[in-house]
Amino acid sequence: MVTNFLRPNNLSQKVLRVIFSIYLGVSCLVTSLQFLTEYVKTQGSIQSELEQLEQTVNAPIATSLWQYNQKQLDALVAGLLKMPIIVGVDIFDKNGESIVSKRSYSETSVPLSLFDKKSDLNWVLNEQEITLGSLTLYSSSEVVLDRVLFGFALIAITAIIKLTVLFWLFVWAFDRFLATPLKNLMSQVDDVQRSQNFSKRINLSITENNEVSKLQDHMNNMLSAMEAGHKQLLEDEQAKRNWLEDAVAKRTEELQILNEKLKDLAANDSLTGALNRGNFFETAQNLLRTLQAQRSPASFILMDLDHFKTVNDTHGHFVGDKVLMHFAHTVQSFLREQDILGRLGGEEFAIFLPDTGIEDAGHLADKLRQAITKASLDVDGKTITYTVSFGVTVSEAKDNSIDALFKRADLKLYGAKDKGRDRVER
Ligand code: GH3
Ligand code: MG
Ligand code: MG
Repeated sequence: MVTNFLRPNNLSQKVLRVIFSIYLGVSCLVTSLQFLTEYVKTQGSIQSELEQLEQTVNAPIATSLWQYNQKQLDALVAGLLKMPIIVGVDIFDKNGESIVSKRSYSETSVPLSLFDKKSDLNWVLNEQEITLGSLTLYSSSEVVLDRVLFGFALIAITAIIKLTVLFWLFVWAFDRFLATPLKNLMSQVDDVQRSQNFSKRINLSITENNEVSKLQDHMNNMLSAMEAGHKQLLEDEQAKRNWLEDAVAKRTEELQILNEKLKDLAANDSLTGALNRGNFFETAQNLLRTLQAQRSPASFILMDLDHFKTVNDTHGHFVGDKVLMHFAHTVQSFLREQDILGRLGGEEFAIFLPDTGIEDAGHLADKLRQAITKASLDVDGKTITYTVSFGVTVSEAKDNSIDALFKRADLKLYGAKDKGRDRVER
């Protein structure tokens, strides 16, 4: 408690310093007044004692004067000077001439102040009062001070005890009810700040409802608001992160789809959906290599639309495109899963048929030719028919390149064209 109190910048210390400065000032003033009152009271009582003494010794001194009894007068004066309150005695005759002038102090220790009681010395003769002279008894400030010294000491000791006890009571009360709770509050606030844990609450263990407990409640309300704000911030951040993750996932998915499309575009002919020339030859070549290793047959059908230039010239390119799409779609509907269809260029297509002999391949080409010859397309209100020529070949043991099959099929196709078109040559 004391070390707390003595800390620099201690609020209790400052408040106490102010309170005690005022208290000390007031105490000194009150005590001084008490001293003064006591002094004046004591001086008054000494004055009345002087008066009583004066009354007591007046008659014997007057008698001694009347009788010119110097011995008795000296004895009376000596007796008076022995009394603690008397510091001097003066006796004058009726003409003001000094008869006796005695002091109990030496010339070197003259009192600070003297006060006296003077009375006439009278003698009654034949019922007539005769003034013989005057008697003055002196007392001094030292006599008063001697008398009040004990009272002074008591007042001073009481004041010091009161001051000391009150001082420590104040120190204890300030520390207990103000400094300790405030120190506690500061350390708990520090703790929250350090840990950044806004769910913590200040607890000063105060039961009564006062300014400190209200300060604690206000701080806790502030912490609740900070906790809510912090939570909201975290939620917002999480929502932003989620949104960002969703956006990235969506974008990635879009890119994947786009990538697939690009791959498809690179691998497939965009008009008909058949494999493009490069992809068709590469795939067919790979398949052929495997089939040759397994000694399995593979067939190759080369197809070319008859007089397609005339279709374009007669009906326009748009219709020509529709015919190409129709042709690819029709062929595709006849193929198995393992068969591949490629557009080699313009209106020239090829089919690679794994595990297929010449008979089956020829048979398929026949079916295709018939289906196309019978088919008719309705474009822009016009009915379009067309035909296709087919060159069919099968792999031979010596074939190690797809080019060999392509060349043979091309020859067959040339033959079909030569023989009047809309034919299958194998
Ligand atoms: P043949 O019976 O001898 O094959 O005669 P053809 O007219 O079919 O042959 P030719 O080689 O003279 O003409 C092919 C035409 O195919 C020429 C070209 O304009 C057309 N063509 C090529 N690619 C496309 C295409 O993608 N769309 C359209 N509409 N026409 C195409
Ligand atoms: Mg043609
Ligand atoms: Mg052609």
